[in-house]
Amino acid sequence: MTEVEAVQGDITTERVDAIVNAANSLLLGGGGVDGAIHAAAGPELLEECRRLRAGRWHDGLPVGEAVATGAGDLPARWVIHTVGPNRHRGQTDPALLASCFSRSLDVASEVGARSVAFPAISAGVYGWDADEVADIAVATVRSWVHDHPGQLDVVRFVLFGPAIHQAFVDALAS
Ligand code: ADP
Repeated sequence: MTEVEAVQGDITTERVDAIVNAANSLLLGGGGVDGAIHAAAGPELLEECRRLRAGRWHDGLPVGEAVATGAGDLPARWVIHTVGPNRHRGQTDPALLASCFSRSLDVASEVGARSVAFPAISAGVYGWDADEVADIAVATVRSWVHDHPGQLDVVRFVLFGPAIHQAFVDALAS
């Protein structure tokens, strides 16, 4: 059984195997949760991201794709970077957001993580509605977990504030 749960908190302090970063396609840090993760992880994380940009992802990580790095000084072992769709750039297809969650879980299981924490991808600067993000996130994670029995112990949504937390609590209850 894989637990799927929602808590309010700061994802950088989560003691899970892998935390997911709502990155941008350049993978070099940014604002919001991306900035918080890079600040807490330290320069090693940025260095690993630079190496990814120098290699396979030289054109940037596409929207909906995910890639793992180490986690620098964070308590987690891996950071999984995914790029959410940006509504302000007309990226409104729910399948792109769903892909962020499913590809991140694919990558988590590839590296051997058994516990994964997600932020509310695209619910900040990228302009998606909190309830829509929560519904897509919960449905996608439940479907992935159903299709991959025994792969993960826990998937935890870590939400930064009461309103976004409530959106996920409601989505989990429906
Ligand atoms: P995006 O660009 O994908 O919208 P943002 O970082 O702007 O990403 O916001 C995504 C969500 O992450 C928002 O709900 C924001 O409040 C939240 N967030 C910001 N900092 C943290 C943090 N330290 N831990 C967890 N969530 C965070």
